Amino acid sequence: MDYQLIRSNRRKTIALQVKNAQVIVRAPDFVKVEYIENLIQLKSIWLAKKIALQQLSNNTLSSCSKNNFSLDNPVYIDGLPHRIIICFGRQKVQHDFVEKSLRVFIALRYQQYEINSVAIAQKVKSLIEQWFKASIDEYLSHQLPLFSEKTLLHAEAFKVRKYKARWGSCSSRGELSFNYLLKMLPPWVVDYVIVHELCHLKYMNHSTKFWQLVERHCPEFYLAKQWLKKNQAYLSWN
Ligand SMILES: [Zn+2]
Repeated sequence: MDYQLIRSNRRKTIALQVKNAQVIVRAPDFVKVEYIENLIQLKSIWLAKKIALQQLSNNTLSSCSKNNFSLDNPVYIDGLPHRIIICFGRQKVQHDFVEKSLRVFIALRYQQYEINSVAIAQKVKSLIEQWFKASIDEYLSHQLPLFSEKTLLHAEAFKVRKYKARWGSCSSRGELSFNYLLKMLPPWVVDYVIVHELCHLKYMNHSTKFWQLVERHCPEFYLAKQWLKKNQAYLSWN
């Protein structure tokens, strides 16, 4: 993790801070770098969440209040902006998390259209949507059993679907549903949504007991709630 170190001979204690999505460490002169790096390591989960929260709220607020699809706009994947690269060939979507890009392959016949035409935009969007569904389905297939083991709460079944105004839901039959756009969110926020829905298997309301149960299995739940509140715009993708 990158950080900025500010030394001072007047300081007596170490302070960790996240400002503009950057870690800042203020430390007395006598503290060794190994000690500081160890501390950062220990606090890495907390720091990563703070960074994600600041990064995303900055990006959302500075770009626009709505999450609109456009070939020129970055698309969010796992909470990070990715650029869309259009390629021609056998239909598929390739995610490159190092390069932060999403290569969308569309059929050769689309070459007859202008690159920024409506036809191409619609095709690309629908392929990304399919990819979102498949990717979040895969993530949930992996995470749900882990959280079920932790919470001792087991869903009858789960599905991924398009929702206009919610991230997830829990039916009285014990079936969980999740918004396919969860693929846009940082994984730690998705994990909170999973825990939230699992806890509804025990409490079908948002009572104090419900939130206590959520907190027990997801201690940082308030940060995730805050993140979701700030980024409501991600609930739909137009
Ligand atoms: Zn709820």
